[in-house]
Amino acid sequence: MIARTYPRPELILAVTCSHCSQEASVSVGYGDHAGTLRIYEEFHCVHCGQRWHGDDTGFLQPEPRARMLEAFGEWTVSMGRARSTFDTVKVLRAALGLELVAAYALLKHESGIVFAGTVQECEWLTRLLEKAGESPTMNALTPMSESCRNG
Ligand SMILES: [Zn+2]
Repeated sequence: MIARTYPRPELILAVTCSHCSQEASVSVGYGDHAGTLRIYEEFHCVHCGQRWHGDDTGFLQPEPRARMLEAFGEWTVSMGRARSTFDTVKVLRAALGLELVAAYALLKHESGIVFAGTVQECEWLTRLLEKAGESPTMNALTPMSESCRNG
């Protein structure tokens, strides 16, 4: 097991409370949970006390995902020579919902990059590939914003 030094990002979004129409917040947690990409949302309105929480699996919706990318940067997962092309393609297809040809093309691309996305998505895919016996690497494409670096 490789020790992880990546942050465990949580995003706080300002939203309008459906109950009292004042400004409230939703905390969004996102990341790998035993091989599944999970989303946790927790709503709290300090004005009327309204609360709810929910969780889901899969990729975030475009809007909160764009906010995650903005806050924590865009990351990539790269593969050198795959130990097993067959296994790697299988992981990529299952994780990213790709056609066979698309997954092969991704793996054979000269950049070596098989995925670009949020830090949590890259962490999740890295672990899936490691579980299949591969040695992927994760890199930050864009720096994290100042507020996150200090947190
Ligand atoms: Zn409220």
